[in-house]
Amino acid sequence: MYRADTVVQLIEQGREGDLAIGAPGRPGLTHGGLRDLARRTVAALNALGIGCGDRVALVLPNGPEMATAFVTIACGATTAPLNPAYRAEEFEFYLSDLNARALVIQEGMESPARAVAAARGIPIIELVPDAKGPAGLFTLKPERPLSGSPARAGFAGAEDVALVLHTSGTTSRPKIVPLRHVNVTASAYHIGHTLELGHEDVCLNIMPLFHIHGLIAAVLASLAAGGAVVCTPGFNALKFFSWFEEIRPSWYTAVPTMHQAILGRAGRNSGIIQSGRLRLIRSSSASLPPQVMEELERVFQVPVIESYGMTEASHQMASNPLPPRLRYTGCVGIAAGPEIGIMDEAGNLLPAGVLGEIVIRGRNVTAGYENNPEANAKAFTHGWFRTGDQGTLDEAGYLRITGRLKEIINRGGEKLSPLEVDTVLMDHPAVQQVVTFAMPHPKLGEEVAAAVVLREGASVTERELRDFAARRLADFKVPRKIVFLTEIPKGATGKLQRIGLAERLGLTA
Ligand code: ATP
Ligand code: MG
Repeated sequence: MYRADTVVQLIEQGREGDLAIGAPGRPGLTHGGLRDLARRTVAALNALGIGCGDRVALVLPNGPEMATAFVTIACGATTAPLNPAYRAEEFEFYLSDLNARALVIQEGMESPARAVAAARGIPIIELVPDAKGPAGLFTLKPERPLSGSPARAGFAGAEDVALVLHTSGTTSRPKIVPLRHVNVTASAYHIGHTLELGHEDVCLNIMPLFHIHGLIAAVLASLAAGGAVVCTPGFNALKFFSWFEEIRPSWYTAVPTMHQAILGRAGRNSGIIQSGRLRLIRSSSASLPPQVMEELERVFQVPVIESYGMTEASHQMASNPLPPRLRYTGCVGIAAGPEIGIMDEAGNLLPAGVLGEIVIRGRNVTAGYENNPEANAKAFTHGWFRTGDQGTLDEAGYLRITGRLKEIINRGGEKLSPLEVDTVLMDHPAVQQVVTFAMPHPKLGEEVAAAVVLREGASVTERELRDFAARRLADFKVPRKIVFLTEIPKGATGKLQRIGLAERLGLTA
């Protein structure tokens, strides 16, 4: 399955003249063009004294240049894509945490990253998009003359770190995850294999390219299959269908909150959906409510493939297969990357059907967090990596996730998974989105609360929703408080954050 174990080998797979990386409204770069750009970029970096093992922070707007910068710089140095929306304090944290050798930033882009890099003596290299050439083409220009010879010039090897990312920070301060070429390429091939990607496939990328999901599933998996990825400036529910109409993608991948926003505008765009050539929709990075999956399949008339991913595994760990192979509602499918087990606290692997922590091991898993011995000691035990997620495996190897261990609500000793409550409330016809979370309680420690977004024009009272939940859930699981919001706060990658939500909403029992 693995035809490459470095990024530079991975981009050898596409046919010379086929589109590799594109953008709406512009001609794109071919696979041949991308390979040329990789050679030129590595030579340019080497001439600036940057080589294998040196870390280059990327602060670029989402889009084709961010994709080509990631791919081509990774061929000869270590990339560290950062969220361009960070403020000065965050850049301080990330740039020092990363030990960046240089900062690559888009020409003309105003960003506090510039001042932070300057204060830390980190050289700034401007990425200048080629205004006349295809989307994605760029040159690198150092702000000040830079020279020297890198410790190691030329293309990186399988064991070199290709990508350094931070986890999404959903449950704690983001952790630094170095991923080697062998990790990211393995994951890209697994995704391609799961989705049966080929050179005729076109992915419409709406995911941010500072997060593992977009970088590996949309960009690297497409390139590894010899296919194309068309990179938008980032998710925008209002623009989604005009991109969809223009690009005619064969697939796209997103987090559940994006799918929900897309569904919200699908009704008025049914003509565009029908005239498309979509083959599948992929969902990952957070739990996809079964109701959303069903609605997506009904509206788009294609299979929705839910997959389970995390930064530490270079994204994909398990995935539902394409039909006719079986998919089960509420299941994230079978191991599709690393080996998967279920472990108890003592480190024993548990038999089918028994609930425990999901553990993984294999080629796409990071060798360890950086500068975080405490997190490493907790995560790497008994030869496996502990994901922090809870679930069960059935006899056939299908994985069911019941939630994150850290998000389990402990109501005076009675433990419950907020995910289960979400699923029940989502069944109410007035509910469009819901997130259940722990609210501090003076006696019980934690009490169950939920934030709900209603469908357009729908109405329901807190009391009615609680009664609805009480018909399906044991009393202790029924949210004591339900608040109605027009939007639920999300993290930078579009994920709902349960931890700290009560505090942000000012809720206590
Ligand atoms: P942090 O580790 O900093 O708290 P994070 O875990 O959200 O942030 P990511 O690596 O982006 O950072 O996300 C991985 C997590 O997302 C998984 O451990 C799991 O909890 C969740 N997840 C991913 N895919 C799914 C899915 N299909 N169903 C349920 N949960 C999922
Ligand atoms: Mg995590």
